Amino acid sequence: MKIDIQKNLALVKESISLYSARYGRNCSEITLLAVSKGQSNEKIRQAILSGQHRFGENYLQEALPKIIEFSQEALEWHFIGPIQQNKTKKIAENFHWVHGVCDLKIAVRLNDQRPHTLPPLNICLQVNVSEEKTKSGLVLDEVLFLCNECQKLSHLKLRGLMTIPAQKSAISDQRKEFRKLSNLFCSLKQKGFELDTLSMGMSNDLEAAIAEGSTLVRIGRGIFGEREH
Ligand SMILES: *Cc1c(COP(=O)(O)O)cnc(C)c1O
Repeated sequence: MKIDIQKNLALVKESISLYSARYGRNCSEITLLAVSKGQSNEKIRQAILSGQHRFGENYLQEALPKIIEFSQEALEWHFIGPIQQNKTKKIAENFHWVHGVCDLKIAVRLNDQRPHTLPPLNICLQVNVSEEKTKSGLVLDEVLFLCNECQKLSHLKLRGLMTIPAQKSAISDQRKEFRKLSNLFCSLKQKGFELDTLSMGMSNDLEAAIAEGSTLVRIGRGIFGEREH
């Protein structure tokens, strides 16, 4: 069966406005990031033709040819995967946003390697709200330190926080995890950090994320169907 990306995008946007209304949110403050990892250029092209221009990728080697292919399209590329030290230069040169920053060494490398001809690289700090040993991300106590350090790096712009919580099926359990990030986000803003991005919510936990204040949702399979590789 052929995937109808235009229709899927419309359905995802409809869900976002439905959930926004349900939880008293304004849907214009929720950005949709189309996660195109494992998806073909043809599908990305369909999404662009349907008006989508923000895309998320996890793997540098896969992302670079796509960024080149669509370089005439004025797209916004978000790196959302784990960041290895030897990849920071190409990430800093080719992406507009990086969501998975979770240590100072990586932040410093991204800052130093961001070309001075480009605007500061937008970053979100990744927080391991579920404190699972196998997941990357800062534990809650480490976030303030890294926020302070990132403020000193002039080629980075700290925009907010990101999380990938432990998989839970009940919406109340999903909300509990997201609420930890949301509370942390509020407390950082009260401390004076000018943050505007709470990056949480994927295909399976979109409603819970919107209920808890997400401002950027990262949807892959809900738009493109199952990944091809
Ligand atoms: C793959 C991925 C997504 C998208 O997941 P779907 O379940 O396909 O919506 C979102 N965020 C991150 C960090 C991912 O790695």
